Order: sequence, then structure tokens, then C-alpha cells
Amino acid sequence: NTFAEIDLGELLNQNIRRCKYVKPTPVQRHAIPIILGGRDLMACAQTGSGKTAAFCFPIISGIMREQYVQRPRVARMIYPLALILSPTRELSCQIHEEAKKFSYQTGVKVVVAYGGAPINQQLRELERGVDILVATPGRLVDLLERARVSLQMIRYLALDEADRMLDMGFEPQIRKIVEQMDMPDHGMRQTMLFSATFPREIQRLASDFLSKYIFLAV
Ligand code: AMP
Repeated sequence: NTFAEIDLGELLNQNIRRCKYVKPTPVQRHAIPIILGGRDLMACAQTGSGKTAAFCFPIISGIMREQYVQRPRVARMIYPLALILSPTRELSCQIHEEAKKFSYQTGVKVVVAYGGAPINQQLRELERGVDILVATPGRLVDLLERARVSLQMIRYLALDEADRMLDMGFEPQIRKIVEQMDMPDHGMRQTMLFSATFPREIQRLASDFLSKYIFLAV
């Protein structure tokens, strides 16, 4: 089993080789084809399983095809095409660093926004263009309330470490964020939920946010 057998495209395969990934991990082997196939996914996967690449590779691959779509022209409004939500600044920065390596030379732009840092600096970065936004829920709600970021064009939503986000009390923010994507024209959003555990609260999120999803436990 190799990455070349998964249909990610030559550019991504080059970046994967550059990262010295030789073989897909189990979560990558199973999750990537499911996401590439257009299905929603609930995956039980631990830290260290390679889950970051499992959702980043297919998102980058999809965005490479979609990054030239016309985005609405509304003054000062920013329209990312993919959103990755994660519980902490550390994890968000880690995902951002990995996603930047994976998207090298693809033209796909990845930006991170997290709380506890000046929002204006993050806004300036976002204004330079963003395809994939990696964010913590609180900071993203702040950006939405300032009417500077719109989730109207989101095609891919990944919730990473969803159980930890709920433990940290982020459920209201997450619901607020997802509500903004439930607009008549979204239509084609694909959602991936990653969690180390699968308690009732996570099952509820999955049934509220995912449609006809595939359940994967590795
Ligand atoms: P994660 O579970 O996403 O936090 O990944 C854990 C670590 O494994 C990270 O340092 C990744 O860079 C690394 N990693 C992910 N996928 C692979 C792979 N297929 N081969 C080798 N290392 C990997």
C-alpha cells in the first residue's frame, strides 16, 4: 500500500515524498479514499495516527480544483473554501505548519487564526487570500461577528479532536459556526469529524452535522 495508489495527484504525491511519508497509516489508507469519494466521515482516531494528513490531503486535492471558483465580491469580506476547526492554538499551529508543507507549490493558501493573539494581524494575513482556514472556535466566532469572514463558500469542514473541543466547552461556538454554513446555496459541503472517543455528545454532533456519513474506527 502506497500513496501513489491513492488518487491524490502528482503534485501532492511529490509533497508527500518530500515529507518522507512512505506508507499511508491505517487512518490515511481508509479515510482518504472515502473523502475523495465525496462522502462525509466520522473517524475515531488518536493523536499520532496521522489523522492530520488524512483530512488535509483530500481537502488540498479538492481545493486545487476549486480555488479558482468565483467568490462573491463583498467589500472586505473573506471567503475561505475549507475550514479546519481545532481546540487549541498549539494544535491549530501544528495543523497549519503541516498543511503548508502538504500544499507546497499547489497554489492553495492556508492561514491560521487562534485566540490570545492580536486579531488585526490575523485579519491582515487573511486579507492576502485564504483557501483553507485553520481556526480555534472562539476566534472564528469573533471573526464572524465582525462580519469579516464568511463561511458561505465552505466546501470542506473538518472538526479535529472534536471530543476535546466539547470538553473545553466549545459546543455553542461550533454550532454557531456550522449554522453559518447551512445557507441555501451551500449545497455541496463535505464534513469530516475526527475524535479519539465516541460518546453520546459526539454521536449527536455527527448526526447533526454530517449527512449519510461513513463511520471509521482505526
Ligand atoms: P498526527 O496524528 O496527524 O498528529 O501525526 C503524527 C505524526 O506522524 C506527525 O509528525 C506526522 O508528520 C507523522 N506522519 C503522518 N503520516 C505519516 C506517514 N504516512 N508516514 C510517516 N509519518 C507520518
